[in-house]
Amino acid sequence: MNKSFRLIFTLLTLFFSVKPSVAQKLKIGMLTVLPSTKVIFTPLAGNYKVWLDATLLNSEGVADVFQLSLDGDSIEVKSFERNVGKCKKIVFEAQLKEGSFKLKSIIPEAKVKVYDNDLEVSSLQNGLRLINKVNIENYIAGVVQSEAGGHSTAEYYKLQAILCRTYALSNLRKHEADSFNLCDQVHCQAYKGKSENPSILSAVHETSGLVIVDDDMNLISAAFSSNCGGQTVNSEDVWTLTASYLRGVKDTFCLRMPNARWQKKIPRSDWLSYLYLKQKYPVDDSIRYKEALSFPQTKGREQFFADKDLKIPLKTIRSDWQLKSTYFSLEQQNDTILLNGRGYGHGVGLCQEGAMHMAQMGTSYKDIINFYYTKVHLVDLTVLNFLKED
Ligand SMILES: [Zn+2]
Ligand SMILES: [Zn+2]
Repeated sequence: MNKSFRLIFTLLTLFFSVKPSVAQKLKIGMLTVLPSTKVIFTPLAGNYKVWLDATLLNSEGVADVFQLSLDGDSIEVKSFERNVGKCKKIVFEAQLKEGSFKLKSIIPEAKVKVYDNDLEVSSLQNGLRLINKVNIENYIAGVVQSEAGGHSTAEYYKLQAILCRTYALSNLRKHEADSFNLCDQVHCQAYKGKSENPSILSAVHETSGLVIVDDDMNLISAAFSSNCGGQTVNSEDVWTLTASYLRGVKDTFCLRMPNARWQKKIPRSDWLSYLYLKQKYPVDDSIRYKEALSFPQTKGREQFFADKDLKIPLKTIRSDWQLKSTYFSLEQQNDTILLNGRGYGHGVGLCQEGAMHMAQMGTSYKDIINFYYTKVHLVDLTVLNFLKED
C-alpha cells in the first residue's frame, strides 16, 4: 500500500469505526445521579415541535411551558392551560439551530439549568430518563465551561475544547445500555448545560471539528490530571494500558501552580499497623522497620513503596489514605509520619496546571498538546466527512 492510499484507508477506517461528524447531535444523559420524577420544560429561544410518542402535537411548533410527571410507567404531560395527555416518550425538537430551553427538576428539587437544542424524555421504573440531544459543538462549549471554569486564557479554552471533543468522540458508546452516548457527570465529562461565555464559545468555534489522533490515526484517550508535580507518568504505571502517546515527560511549568505541593501527617502507629495488617509488611524485621519510616522519592517518580520485593503499589497507598498523588516522600518526625507530596491526580497525560501556565506564557495549544502527548496529530473531522462523501 503506498503512503497516501494508506492514509486515506486509515482515515476511512477511523470514520467508519467512530462515525464522528461536526453536524452530529450527541445524546447526553441529564441529571443522572438522582432521577427526577417531575420536571418543567420552558422554551427560551425559538419554537419547539412536541412529539408525544409518534404523535406531533403542533406542526407549527409551540413555545409553551410543559410539566412532565412520572405516573406509573407513563409520563403525564400538562401544558400551562390544559392536560395534554399521557405517553411513554416525549420529544421537544427545536425549530432553530440556536434553540434553547430551561429545565427545572421539581422532584427532587434542583436548580434551573439552560440547555441548547432538543430534549427527549422517556419513562423509566424509578424516574424520567432525560436526554439532551445537542449539537456536538454546543456540548463541547458546555463541558469546557464546567471543566475549565470561566477565567482561563483563550488559548487554554481552545486546548480544552480539543481534549473534550476527542474524549467525547472516542467514548460515544460509553452509555449504550442507557440509550444515550455520555452522561453529564465526571464519570464521562462534567456538563452543566449551555455555555454563554463569549471566549469559550469562540475557542470552540475556532477549533471546530479538531481532534487528536495517534500515529495509527486512532482517536487518543486524552487523559489529563490537575497537576503532575513536575513529572508525568507512563500510562501502564497507573493503568494496565500501554499507550504510545501517554509517555512520562518532565514538566517544569506546573511547579509554582496551586496544586504543586501538599503535606499530610499520619500517626506513626496507624501507619505501621496499616503496613502490617493490610499490606503484610514485616515491620518486626529491623531493617524493614527503618525502611517503612523513610521513603525519599526524590529521583523521579517510583511505582512501588520501599522494598521492591513486597511490591506495594503507591497507587494503592494513595487510594487507601486518600492522598492527592503517589508522588510523595515520607519521613518520621517523633510519633508522626510526615508525607511531603507533589502534584494532584494520577499524573498521566496532560497536566492541566502546567498547560494553563504554558498558555498564559503564550505557548500555542498545538505546542502544548505536543509537549504532553507523544507523537500525536491534530485532524479535522470535516476531512473525514469529505472522504465519506467521495
Ligand atoms: Zn458517564
Ligand atoms: Zn505538571
